[in-house]
Amino acid sequence: MAGKTSQSEAAFRLARKVLVGGVNSPVRAFSAVGGLPRFIASASGSKITDVDGNEYIDYVCGYGPGILGHAHPKVVEAVAAAAKRGFCYGAPTRGETELAEIIVAAFPSIEKLRFVSSGTEAVMSAVRLARGATGRNKILKFAGCYHGHADALLVAAGSGATTLGVPSSPGVPRGATGDTILVPYNDPDALDSAFDQHGESMAAALVEPVAGNMGVIPPAEGFVPRLRRLCDRYGALLVFDEVITGFRIAYGGAQELYGVRADITTLGKIIGGGLPVGAFGGRRELMANLSPEGPVYQAGTLSGNPLAMAAGAATLRILRDGEVHGQLEVQSATLAIGLIEAARSAGLAGKVCFNRVGSMLCCFFSPGPVKDYDSARASNTGAYAAFFGAMLAGGVNLAPSQFESMFVSAAHTGTDLERTAEAARAAFADAAKLMDQRSTSR
Ligand code: PMP
Repeated sequence: MAGKTSQSEAAFRLARKVLVGGVNSPVRAFSAVGGLPRFIASASGSKITDVDGNEYIDYVCGYGPGILGHAHPKVVEAVAAAAKRGFCYGAPTRGETELAEIIVAAFPSIEKLRFVSSGTEAVMSAVRLARGATGRNKILKFAGCYHGHADALLVAAGSGATTLGVPSSPGVPRGATGDTILVPYNDPDALDSAFDQHGESMAAALVEPVAGNMGVIPPAEGFVPRLRRLCDRYGALLVFDEVITGFRIAYGGAQELYGVRADITTLGKIIGGGLPVGAFGGRRELMANLSPEGPVYQAGTLSGNPLAMAAGAATLRILRDGEVHGQLEVQSATLAIGLIEAARSAGLAGKVCFNRVGSMLCCFFSPGPVKDYDSARASNTGAYAAFFGAMLAGGVNLAPSQFESMFVSAAHTGTDLERTAEAARAAFADAAKLMDQRSTSR
């Protein structure tokens, strides 16, 4: 059970003096749920421990990288061994080739790739490559899909109709998003008409093949194959942003699960095992447009960093050689059943909606179905905040936002899942009270 918070309070006070909002990525400040961000001292397996000594069962898993749980001994060993050999050389290493070989073997659509240091960099570079290779400027993205914070992709989610992108942040000039076409997720008619209008000038269509940044939303039946067909018809490149889904929902990512090949795949999170890594890759001839083989420029001082390569390779070898994904499916299904049962016991049957794909899952506080950004935003975020706060108090760490995924790791035990369901019974009851108040006061 989570108890005192005085050390986190003190740490947050100090952090806010020197760090913007006290954090280095906005969601960590708890603005969406209220309350005090817990400062973390350590993590091991399925548990994370804050500076007050409170231990939580962790379903954030670093927002996805922690598929094996925290500080897996083999990954720790690989990073420690790499650290003893030095941290950064600015020269090629065998470790980069080794990790690239593992990725290429897992993704038939990737023959060559380039490592970068974050998912943002991976997608930003993929867009540049797509534009350079096709000689076209327009890109298509789906409302509610997040592809990192590069200017061209920070486009407000439009409701319903296909619109040309309007920047969603000050500091992003209109010119930077003027070529970004915004389409609702899972809407085949809007997709057809976007290609009808812009297909000939479209360099690339970007998609999270399972959306993981508006809660969790699976693609509707036939949606991804339709996107593939439209890209082929109009000569646009299909970019699968598998920064979350790669090596998570299946070893070969969404491409394995849905049987559709992308032209460019972006990866991050799991391929660095928790250290900063991203990557983008595709067919050999396409990747040959990239510097130094071709004219499209892209570079990075820390790209292919030896510690990150070691952590990534150790993680992927365990995923490749073990039974992790089968085991994750069973654990995730068990967790989902426990949560659904807990919601029902709190009188929320039919009032909440669960979406799950493999070890990504999410509960929306609305009847659903949740299939796009508009239906995701219909969730009662106040109820989520109440649920989140009660889970934290009950020793379960969830993402401090309705619009993130819960991630299950191989380290979550049966006991963890039972304890989570138990905490959820009380947390859903808190959320239910809030939903009732809202409906009676309306
Ligand atoms: N693409 C997707 C699908 C993501 O979920 C994220 C981050 N959550 C990114 C890109 C950006 O990655 P990063 O935060 O490493 O820059």
